[in-house]
Amino acid sequence: MRNVAILGSTGSIGTQTLDIISQNSSELNVVALSAGSNIALLEKQIRQYKPTVVAVWDEDKAAELRQNISDLSGIQVLSQMEGLLAVATIPESDILVTAIVGMLGIRPTIAAIEAGKDIALANKETLVTAGHIIMPLARDKQVKILPVDSEHSAIFQSLQGEGHNEINQILLTASGGPFRGMTWEEMQNVTLEQALNHPNWSMGKKITIDSSTMVNKGLEVMEAHHLFNVNLDKITVVIHPQSILHSAVQFNDGAVIGQMGTPDMRIPISYALFYPNRKPIKSDYLDLFEVGKMTFEKPDLNAFKGLALAYKAMEQGGNIPTVLNAANEKAVAKFLKNEIRCVQIPEIIADCMENISYINNPNLDEILETEKLTYEYIEGRY
Ligand code: NDP
Repeated sequence: MRNVAILGSTGSIGTQTLDIISQNSSELNVVALSAGSNIALLEKQIRQYKPTVVAVWDEDKAAELRQNISDLSGIQVLSQMEGLLAVATIPESDILVTAIVGMLGIRPTIAAIEAGKDIALANKETLVTAGHIIMPLARDKQVKILPVDSEHSAIFQSLQGEGHNEINQILLTASGGPFRGMTWEEMQNVTLEQALNHPNWSMGKKITIDSSTMVNKGLEVMEAHHLFNVNLDKITVVIHPQSILHSAVQFNDGAVIGQMGTPDMRIPISYALFYPNRKPIKSDYLDLFEVGKMTFEKPDLNAFKGLALAYKAMEQGGNIPTVLNAANEKAVAKFLKNEIRCVQIPEIIADCMENISYINNPNLDEILETEKLTYEYIEGRY
């Protein structure tokens, strides 16, 4: 039996993780769950999966949940960072699924690694901002970082059995999102509704907006750099609108090994939970005859300025990826409230990257301070 703790169990990745656990209940067991504020869904999950620790970020909601489940015994309900850390480090767990959104995931992820937990990592923002701390720590503690992001899972799967064979390039695929083919000028007045309408994937709101701006792909380039220790010039973004080839690796002999499948996050989630084994999944399997053809294009870096900015942030290094990530989180939150236009997201990121002070090799406190300064900078201006 493998004991699983989940940060963000009420979200898109969290609920799909619970689906995989339900499909494999004789092998996977839930020990801890967490949510931001959705206590109605969390309560249902508690009654079904019977964890011993749960966390709700919002203190009032945590108190309300305690009342609502007072008929159950043996469940600790915590809140704020204390709650997230308790879920991340619960002694009974073997693996932590980081399905929380944003930089809030950094501290619990580090705490879990320090406690010797394997990590099924969906929360890419943690690696983008603190990959230089997390990856060496994971090596030191000999814990596995198992990618859940479909592209990184595909790369990870393509690397199995390859030992020290040299990577020529990583081919990181991208659907291109709802605005693929548009110019920067044509994107000026796209709406929130259009941005939330992803052609292939059903995901949480923040990552759906990130996909429409292609900032998501920029974050994924940085995530791949940290996960696979590959230089930026060896990571090529390839637009593949059908989302069937989830990414690939070209080795030094020219051979390209990739992983294909339907756009279903439960495949990488299941792979991370059972690695190195594979389990059947109740889902539609890929039918190549139905797919018919797969196409590939170069990304338009002039139209998708967020992707170009991510390459720039990575080249600058230090705390600049944190600036990009924090600026993006804040700008996306504003766009979700219709306070700014979609095209202002990369403009705000660029403004922050120019105006927040550079710190080389930032430690955790400096990363969190950079996040705070970036938020304050945006609040004062937009
Ligand atoms: P969702 O928005 O669907 O879910 C986010 C989860 O985090 C929810 O459980 C939410 O709780 C919780 N949460 C939000 N704010 C807080 C907070 N302040 N404290 C504690 N918990 C909080 O996101 P996704 O599942 O889409 O994404 C999660 C992560 O996985 C992101 O980093 C994303 O980039 C990554 N990812 C997602 C993919 C996808 O297909 N969805 C694919 C690849 C990566 P509540 O419900 O109460 O708000």
